Amino acid sequence: MAETAEPKAVKVHKTSGAGVEIDWKDGHHSSYTFTYLRDACPCALCTEEREKAKRKPGDPLGAVQGALPMFKALARPSEVEPIGKYAIRFYWNDGHQHGVYSWRWLREVCPCPQCKMARESTSGLEEDIAEHEKRKPN
Ligand SMILES: [Zn+2]
Ligand SMILES: [Zn+2]
Repeated sequence: MAETAEPKAVKVHKTSGAGVEIDWKDGHHSSYTFTYLRDACPCALCTEEREKAKRKPGDPLGAVQGALPMFKALARPSEVEPIGKYAIRFYWNDGHQHGVYSWRWLREVCPCPQCKMARESTSGLEEDIAEHEKRKPN
């Protein structure tokens, strides 16, 4: 599946703040909000922070005490820059600019119900196998 992660068309709705739309070469369509992408930032810093909080890419941040929930909804890129043929980089309006979003990675975190279900059933399957292994008599 990751081999097909090549975009045919990419639209970044920077001015309207509507998010990013990608048409993939295999016909799949993905649509991301900027908040989703900001939360799922693949840089080392954010990955570490997510692992500590046990969040997956795309899971919303936990409520930060004293923070206004509205602030989160305003995630927007101030600059968007293509990186070669394989990725895109966002300069977020909160000053964060370490995230390089590869097409492959974007396809992996596609938030559409179809991909979400596929991701969940895969991790469910792994758990089933682990359970099965445990129950096996030696
Ligand atoms: Zn980051
Ligand atoms: Zn999808």
